[in-house]
Amino acid sequence: MAKIDLKDDSAVVVVGSGAGGGTLAHELTRRGAKVVLIEAGKRQSVDTFSQIPGEAFGQLTWLDTRTQSGNWGVARDFPALPVWHCKTVGGTTVHWTASAPRLQPWELRARTTYGNIADTSLIDWPLSYEELEKYYIVAEHRMGVTRRNDMPGLPASNNFKVMYAGAKKLGYKQVHTGHMAINSRSYDGRAFCIQQGFCIQGCKMGAKWSTLYTEIPDAEATGNLDLRIESTATRIEHGSDGRVTALIYGDSQGQEQRQMARVVCVAGNAIETARLLLLSASSKFPHGLANSSDQVGRNYCHQITGFVWGIFDKPIYSWRGATLAGVVEDEAINNPRRGFAGGYRIELVTLDLPTLPLVGLPYGWGRDFAWVMENYRNLAGMFINGEDLPRPGNRITLNSDVKDAFGLPVANIHVDEHPNDQAIRKHAQGQMSWMYEAIGAKRVVLGPTPPATHNLCTARMSADPRDGVTNAWGQAHDIKNLFISDGSVLPTSGSANPTLTIVALVLRQAEYISQQMKAGVV
Ligand SMILES: Cc1cc2nc3c(=O)[nH]c(=O)nc-3n(C[C@H](O)[C@H](O)[C@H](O)COP(=O)(O)OP(=O)(O)OC[C@H]3O[C@@H](n4cnc5c(N)ncnc54)[C@H](O)[C@@H]3O)c2cc1C
Ligand code: SF4
Repeated sequence: MAKIDLKDDSAVVVVGSGAGGGTLAHELTRRGAKVVLIEAGKRQSVDTFSQIPGEAFGQLTWLDTRTQSGNWGVARDFPALPVWHCKTVGGTTVHWTASAPRLQPWELRARTTYGNIADTSLIDWPLSYEELEKYYIVAEHRMGVTRRNDMPGLPASNNFKVMYAGAKKLGYKQVHTGHMAINSRSYDGRAFCIQQGFCIQGCKMGAKWSTLYTEIPDAEATGNLDLRIESTATRIEHGSDGRVTALIYGDSQGQEQRQMARVVCVAGNAIETARLLLLSASSKFPHGLANSSDQVGRNYCHQITGFVWGIFDKPIYSWRGATLAGVVEDEAINNPRRGFAGGYRIELVTLDLPTLPLVGLPYGWGRDFAWVMENYRNLAGMFINGEDLPRPGNRITLNSDVKDAFGLPVANIHVDEHPNDQAIRKHAQGQMSWMYEAIGAKRVVLGPTPPATHNLCTARMSADPRDGVTNAWGQAHDIKNLFISDGSVLPTSGSANPTLTIVALVLRQAEYISQQMKAGVV
């Protein structure tokens, strides 16, 4: 591994080692750039992943304080944990369940396709689907996505067979075990999935793609990566010309450090990315870095989610098999006759027993709750993944009343659901309930909206600098050598789980940064 001097101003400094940052670090080091990768979390491995759910959650999850507000159910049901992502080398690709679908072409033209919907801030993407598709192909190859290239689909679990039977009763046609970034055969030096389940605790087989054991070791092998763990970025500095010059971070010993930089790329997951830009306000940029448009932190999207559980007479053992390996894609269309814009995907899901009552079931103790828990073996599960619409007031701000370990304001996450979001959830819950009822479920239970796992759009790309924070390559409109390299840059959420798109965009961005460095632009 490289040791890059704090005063070396030729380095690219990347904040966050997850889907965006880990992939970017690999791509840049592979092309010969020296990269300092700053990661707040510790480094785990397939050997150290705990398989005890509560312990695994504590080992991997970002648990630093945040606050929340707004009318979304999460503010009521999960006040202490409004969003769920990781703080560990590999970021949330350690926790994730690896569903890796593409957005559809019309989802990149949301403003044109849906029209002018009141109380939204919809825009079209500043790049075409055809342009994005070139990088989807590379990302799918890199991540070993099933049903793409020559990677077979994953086998059907019992949970999937129940979903499939219900979907067919309703006449759905596009039902399969998904495009998963999980090896169905040995690939890229990693083992294949043994269908043991509990993917969220970290995949002991290494079958699930994670930057922890793919991109980051590959970047280290180039000799150009300096990974600094347990290091938290607190501020980005700039010079009098406005270009960024250094990153301030607290290191693993609690000491403040200043790493000089030629380029800074922020990939801290959409909440912390927006927060870091806001924390970096200065006399030149009083509202935060890259924020002359006042769009940093706004338009926060998290995709419409929710659980639907079907309880049957006979055991299903839903936890056996890859957690999310099943999808019905028929509702991922834009059909305004359903009463809303945009679409949703119906995805397979299961939760381990301690997590189910914590995030998957409506709160309430007593006989009925106990009955559901007693029927855990007979429970089948599905999950909604739908488009939510951007609103300027749904935003990340700094809460100066609550401070973190560095004495800095924490992020407040404010969400008021749009009627369109509520209509999507209602429609999806109805269809999914019918699927289970049509094949004889004894009972259907609708879960609450869980903490947000898909955090997006808080520093969005835009053709017009007044509408967003970056150009089509994630380069800040205001500052040429500052890049955003995670889900923050998505202009709209679409209905596809976002990580494949994040990786595709970062692969494209890495090419662009390399060209700009060669040309001396940055
Ligand atoms: C339980 C769960 C299941 C999921 N399943 C899926 C799925 O099936 N499909 C899908 O597409 N997506 C899924 N996701 C979402 C997916 O994991 C994210 O979309 C993706 O990882 C986001 O990538 P990122 O680079 O933006 O951030 P992350 O991967 O979260 O990485 C961000 C990293 O930045 C670090 N960081 C943040 N701030 C700082 C700072 N100031 N200084 C230093 N480091 C910092 C964090 O510690 C973290 O390691 C899931 C998420 C969860 C929680
Ligand atoms: S089910 Fe497959 S992908 Fe999930 S943790 Fe087990 S081996 Fe890994």
